[in-house]
Amino acid sequence: MPDVEGLKRSLAGIRIEDNPAIVKQKSRDFFWYSPVLKRQLEHVTGDLVVSPTSEDEVVRVLAEAYAHEVPVTVRGAGTGNYGQAMPLSGGLILSLAELRGVGAIGNGTVTADAGAIMSEIDQVTIADSRQELRLHPSTYRSATIGGFIAGGSGGVGSIRWGGLRDLGNIVSARVVTLESTPRVLDLTGDDLAKVAHAYGTNGVITRVEVPLAPAYDWVDVLLGFDRFMDAARFANALGAEDGILLKELGVIAAPVPHDYFLRHQRYVRRDQSMVVIMVARQALSALMTLVGRDSRASVLFRSDRAGEDERRGLPPAYELAWNHTTLRGLRVDPSITYLQTLYPYPHQLERLEKVTAILGDEVPGHLEFVRFDGNVTCFGLPIVRYTTEERLEEIIRIHEDNGCPVFNPHRYTLEEGGMKQSDPVQLAFKREADPKGLLNPGKMIAWEEPDYDFGADKVYLFRGLQALE
Ligand code: FAD
Repeated sequence: MPDVEGLKRSLAGIRIEDNPAIVKQKSRDFFWYSPVLKRQLEHVTGDLVVSPTSEDEVVRVLAEAYAHEVPVTVRGAGTGNYGQAMPLSGGLILSLAELRGVGAIGNGTVTADAGAIMSEIDQVTIADSRQELRLHPSTYRSATIGGFIAGGSGGVGSIRWGGLRDLGNIVSARVVTLESTPRVLDLTGDDLAKVAHAYGTNGVITRVEVPLAPAYDWVDVLLGFDRFMDAARFANALGAEDGILLKELGVIAAPVPHDYFLRHQRYVRRDQSMVVIMVARQALSALMTLVGRDSRASVLFRSDRAGEDERRGLPPAYELAWNHTTLRGLRVDPSITYLQTLYPYPHQLERLEKVTAILGDEVPGHLEFVRFDGNVTCFGLPIVRYTTEERLEEIIRIHEDNGCPVFNPHRYTLEEGGMKQSDPVQLAFKREADPKGLLNPGKMIAWEEPDYDFGADKVYLFRGLQALE
């Protein structure tokens, strides 16, 4: 039985918050993006928030959690949007927000504490040696590097560097286990797969080393097209231009840019689809040459041509992209939701065209171009004009039937949101690093229900959540 009161007493000297309103607030992430998760997880809350300020304190908290059998859910900034950071069994929220130091900066790498905010890491590395993180989510200004590695997948920079799953995009991670005497392990190489994108189910990352890229002067360019598929074709061709250095390449179907990007509304007509680009200043004229060759493209906005006041009044281009597109939509129309799909290379355009023709304005397109296994192709984060859970499932099936895998953002488990099978490496490490199963309970089906049948087309429900169905 968890002994929360005993745990609290044992943590004297470490910052603890047990005001229920604040604990509830720190028990939530962006799960409400999904109407399904909103229904399932709205009530979820922990018992207390503990904020260690050093790795030694993390070790002490984990040893006491083990002794008092209290579940531990790690929290960076809580910007995950599948309920990853929500404590399904209550217990302790381990906030790493105070572990935010930026350490050694080398030629092409930086070491940072897990709770460091990504834009703050870049401020330090750019000032030091004009280097920056290769990859960041569009939540760059609020999310932590540890949360990105444990809960994210890629984002801005993925057009050049691929995703976090690609070898070389994380150099090392320091991880604390949840045992009677917690161990501190330095993971590199293949071992990184144990904790990367494991939602903190098998260890607490306290520090990471990640690669850096040269920090160029990035220019935001927004292009308009009368037809979504013309915008997609242009972006597909631009992504294949090896000499044009990009950091972001996304496409968003009309009327989303006009209806949801309120501060950009004056630049775009309602019937225009938008290509969102971040290009290195030295490659801007090459980009404009490519634009000039396509009579269907019109330049809506260039940050290098905008005055200072104009630029200050607008969000950066990366905050129009990735899941910020959906966030801007939700602010205007809370009834929408979204999906995550892949349009596999080399058939990305045909498959996109097919599902777009079937689903039309019920599912306005949103593409993010990335390097994936060595080729440039696109992920989709399409908006869904949501009606019912049944129809959402049908829309998922339509994608899958047309060769577009879906990474379901309406599921809180690792397996159902990702590859629809358990990860044996992560499971084996959980047995070793979290023998009592106290880390983020309910997120790894392979641990909770080893005989679960992933082929049986049913939704997994963690104990305690069944009653709500
Ligand atoms: P949290 O949400 O706090 O945690 C994420 C997961 O990691 C949780 O399971 C948590 O328990 C675990 N965790 C956190 N820290 C640690 C640690 N130190 N050790 C072990 N486990 C830990 N994601 C992308 O990949 N790309 C995007 O472009 C992107 N854009 C987004 C845009 C919006 C508007 C929103 C709301 C979300 C977006 N996300 C994106 C999801 C999310 O913002 C990112 O993955 C982000 O990096 C998560 O960081 P965080 O600090 O908020 O982590």
